[in-house]
Amino acid sequence: MLNRRQMITYAAGAAGALLLPYRAMGDVRDRNPFTLGIASGSPRENSVILWTRLAPDPLRGGGMPAGDVPVRLLVFADDGGRKQIRDLQVTAVAADAHAVHVRLDGLDPGRDYWYRFVAGDFETVLGRTRTSDRRADRARLALASCQSWQSGFFAAYADMAAWAPDCVIHVGDYIYEGGEGQLGPRTVTAAGETLTFNTVRLHNGPEIVSLWDYRNRHALYKTDPSLQAAHAASPWIVAMDDHEIDNNWASDTPQDPWAQTPLEWRVRRIAALKAYYEHMPIAKPPLIDGLSSSLEMHGLYRFGPAQVHLLDTRQYRSDQVCGEGFPGQAPCPDADRADRTMLGAAQERWLFDALRQSDAAFNVLASQTWITPYRYNRAPEPAAVNFDAWDGYGPARRRLFDVLADGVANPVAVTGDWHCAAASTLHVDPFDARSRRIGHEFSGTSISSDCPWSGAMERARSDNPHVRYHNGRKRGYCRFDIDARTWSTSFRTIADPLNPASAVTTDLEVRTRDL
Ligand code: FE
Ligand code: CA
Repeated sequence: MLNRRQMITYAAGAAGALLLPYRAMGDVRDRNPFTLGIASGSPRENSVILWTRLAPDPLRGGGMPAGDVPVRLLVFADDGGRKQIRDLQVTAVAADAHAVHVRLDGLDPGRDYWYRFVAGDFETVLGRTRTSDRRADRARLALASCQSWQSGFFAAYADMAAWAPDCVIHVGDYIYEGGEGQLGPRTVTAAGETLTFNTVRLHNGPEIVSLWDYRNRHALYKTDPSLQAAHAASPWIVAMDDHEIDNNWASDTPQDPWAQTPLEWRVRRIAALKAYYEHMPIAKPPLIDGLSSSLEMHGLYRFGPAQVHLLDTRQYRSDQVCGEGFPGQAPCPDADRADRTMLGAAQERWLFDALRQSDAAFNVLASQTWITPYRYNRAPEPAAVNFDAWDGYGPARRRLFDVLADGVANPVAVTGDWHCAAASTLHVDPFDARSRRIGHEFSGTSISSDCPWSGAMERARSDNPHVRYHNGRKRGYCRFDIDARTWSTSFRTIADPLNPASAVTTDLEVRTRDL
């Protein structure tokens, strides 16, 4: 069976003469259309998705004339680009902002491949991707999240590209929806401490709401050379968090229902999901039915000793409850309602089945928000917690922990959202570090987003003994090196967020068995 996209590709190939090639497009043919780089994603044993987008004028809608455009895709078995194994005509789809999504099939497991796109007189860099392999004895994975364009440069991505992991796991806040800030330093007083943050570069315009806006914002982020390098070096698996649409949204509810009508929110969500698809190496476009929209992001991936469950904790969750206390809020009776869900019933069932059936040495839960509990007040008061994270969904976490505690091998949560690095142990009674240990969690610091609540967390550390390492002062990402017996995490941090070429070093290297 051909899927819709393969049909389009096939039709374009058969009727290639009907498509105007880039070389023949008088108004753009002298301009490089590959301003946004290339990417690969969703690595499987025999396939991978390859992505690019034609955008000679990236910050103003892309600048392409109307109509689909044929693009040449070359695939190689060597990094010198000499052993060519495919020469395909693929299609930049006008309705997708001239994005190209190609599923490359028939590949061998656990192998590197190289690829480049060609349009007219222009060609992309030679990208490297890699298929997964359940029999591999080792996996090297990277974790990234929270890359506010304005808050810092992406030196972390240059370092990640140099490492070239088997796969990059991105758990969200790939873009931020907010408007333009003001260049330079500003001070913020938080938890009795005065902090200085910097706006190093500006967003392109005010808060984004339309498809046009979301496309241009994704394009802005994709122009970053270090981000492009990290995409060109490894396949990625991606699932959005909140800022790809709007801060702290939940399912059908925006954070600020008084500022946007339900109709405006639903239109905005369609635009955001569509633009996200158009800029990511993912297989399926959003399903749009009238004003309802959804995008399948959760999925199962296998890298040798690690089975990765990529979760979507935003699209199907119950709305947040208990008010807006920040960073921690005292609980309310509503929080404990058994019907409150973080994953939605279908995803939860899928996850629990996958965990129970797994034969992997390590079982990874890639979640946007922290699964580890964190209280911001002293025991024995009822814990004041962040109700946007799993702490706000106690019954859902209880159901998950019951499954983990029932024989799942070495659960390791890898999470983002909170802009600070942490290494934690998960316990059957979440807030009791003396109760049985059922897993570990590594929270990646943000690539660039600031952490004004770092001081509040530091002051509460002694009341969270299960969090064994914490750093909210540095930006960076995590490297995971995994074999059948050992999980090792390196917290990579950048020396200077004001410097796009900053040095990046290891703040801590730790094995799960040493926590
Ligand atoms: Fe964030
Ligand atoms: Ca977030």
